[in-house]
Amino acid sequence: MRLDIQELQANDGTTLGFDFSLPLDKALADYVDGTASVKGTVANHGGFLLLESGVSVSAKGVCARCGELFDTSHSFTVSRPVARELNEENDEYILTDEDGFLDLEGVFSEELLLELPTKLLCREDCKGLCPKCGKNLNRGACGCSQKEIDPRLEVLKALLNNG
Ligand SMILES: [Zn+2]
Ligand SMILES: [Zn+2]
Repeated sequence: MRLDIQELQANDGTTLGFDFSLPLDKALADYVDGTASVKGTVANHGGFLLLESGVSVSAKGVCARCGELFDTSHSFTVSRPVARELNEENDEYILTDEDGFLDLEGVFSEELLLELPTKLLCREDCKGLCPKCGKNLNRGACGCSQKEIDPRLEVLKALLNNG
């Protein structure tokens, strides 16, 4: 979505609203079928342009430990000044295109990459997969959990028992 802000820029005290949804970028590989709802405004405060918005994301997350899909949702706000050009570089600012349009999809695709957690867990205490048999340990223990006894310790134990 591209927002024409030329009129806003010319009129102090005015506000422009926007409301759109954005599919999540492929770069966010831990989020499947994700959509971000973006709602906000750009306002002209005495010639200073400010974008304020709320973003809410719902997706299927891929658990970093067990690999299962689960429903996940995140929300965050974005509040950044907007300018057509700057005398000095400033990463805080969102810059418009040369023709005075704001590329909102581009802006929010970047915000999503910055704001969304990269390591998702289906639950805080996810037990993950057994490194040996690959069973999902959230569904119960597998037979691998009995520790094998180190043969060197066996020798030591024998010595201690005999002493
Ligand atoms: Zn998990
Ligand atoms: Zn196992």
